[in-house]
Amino acid sequence: MKSRSTARDEPPIVGALSVLRRWLGFFRRAQQGAVAPKAGAGDVETSAEFLKTRQALAAFCRAFGYDVGKVTLSPQSKTFDYLGQSFTSEGQSFPDGRIEIYYDPDMSDARLGCCLAHELQHVRYFTVRDAYRAEEADGPLHRRFAKYAPELLATLRGVSNYSNEHWDAWKGGAPPKLFSFELEEGDSEPINETIAEVAKALYNWGPDVRINPLWRELHDAINEEYAALQE
Ligand SMILES: [Zn+2]
Repeated sequence: MKSRSTARDEPPIVGALSVLRRWLGFFRRAQQGAVAPKAGAGDVETSAEFLKTRQALAAFCRAFGYDVGKVTLSPQSKTFDYLGQSFTSEGQSFPDGRIEIYYDPDMSDARLGCCLAHELQHVRYFTVRDAYRAEEADGPLHRRFAKYAPELLATLRGVSNYSNEHWDAWKGGAPPKLFSFELEEGDSEPINETIAEVAKALYNWGPDVRINPLWRELHDAINEEYAALQE
């Protein structure tokens, strides 16, 4: 997540945030006078729109083949400050496989699907990362992923504005390593976020999307290993 300045007293979360509402979104809404007073979370949760979004989210989970019980739609919006601006997060994934999507009445079903595709990729990444870190230094995962060296990935950088923001925000002394604890080491997660953005692009645009072939290959390799770990 890019949120260097999120509250430090929150539980440490390795998951990553997707930025929902950027500058322009704020401006556009303000210009349109569309910024409505915030209803209490209780009111939101019983609203027809919220329930409809929750149904759509469950349908997406089933389509992705993911446990609906692990994905919640939160009525609370999650904002964080970055470079003096307030951002709202779309969703968050946790190393134990839980995903929270933060309800936004303006979020279309298409964007909801993209958001879930992105967060689900983080979950797969965490699973393969755990297996990678649990094996010997010459184990099969180490051998398979050896070619994705830090310098190579750092040269490629990201596949979207959002992932490039994570590359820009990297504070580590050396380029980030695949399957390292990026957030702890460099205050951002360029690799984890780039792979999540590959998943989002593939979901949104389909398999013919133009995307860096090496990042795509790495994304595919992670998903293959994730599938093997599920067997
Ligand atoms: Zn993310």
